[in-house]
Amino acid sequence: IKNDQPRLRIAIQKSGRLSTESQNLLEAMGLKINMREQRLIAHCENMPIDLLRVRDDDIPGLIMDGVVDLGFIGENELEEKELERKRLGQPAEYKRLKRMTFGSCRLSIATTEEFDYQGPQSLEGLRIATSYPELLKRYLDEQGINFKSVMLNGSVEVAPRAGIADAICDLVSTGATLEANGLKEVQDIFHSKAVLIQAKAPLSKDKQALVDRLMVRVQGVMQAKE
Ligand code: ATP
Ligand code: ZN
Repeated sequence: IKNDQPRLRIAIQKSGRLSTESQNLLEAMGLKINMREQRLIAHCENMPIDLLRVRDDDIPGLIMDGVVDLGFIGENELEEKELERKRLGQPAEYKRLKRMTFGSCRLSIATTEEFDYQGPQSLEGLRIATSYPELLKRYLDEQGINFKSVMLNGSVEVAPRAGIADAICDLVSTGATLEANGLKEVQDIFHSKAVLIQAKAPLSKDKQALVDRLMVRVQGVMQAKE
């Protein structure tokens, strides 16, 4: 697939935990963007850049298919999609430009409070509900543990109570949601932050020059914050 759009396309999460900070960073980098309208595409007023505002789940694929040039995405979503695409023999390449300082979270296994967790071997043969089956499988394969994943895109934390799983593997920041559902975090398996990524195929000279300039600015904004 070829992207010969003259304007640089940057994918950001439309609304959610990464959207405000991605937008703030772009603004701090000097992009003037009119975000008032709830449009899919927001045009930058002072540079040849368009923002594509989508669900975060779609961003890795848009980059790997080469239909957008840059994207801000959580490493959890990015690596999950990369593993899935590799397994399916689909394009899974991208360039990692920079790790951000926002979007921190961890992917953890949690069990019911009364479960006697003695280490990963305690999970042998269990049903584990998750939105991240690839990352979970990578971890448990490394540990030599057999399990059955139950794929859920939402409400993962209610699965044990609903009787459809014995444990869960989900994103955690404070642990309050787990506690509210009678669960305890027993094993963190992946630490994530947001990253800025680029499509693998070479950009036109003009677009690459623009990306180079943007990266200098990202560096400047991030240093100023330290
Ligand atoms: P979308 O509607 O775009 O699909 P979403 O509900 O999948 O949104 P969010 O909850 O907005 O996603 O989280 C987006 C990303 O933010 C996560 O994939 C993760 O990288 C990061 N993140 C940071 N902190 C947390 C947290 N406490 N819980 C969940 N995700 C977090
Ligand atoms: Zn999502």
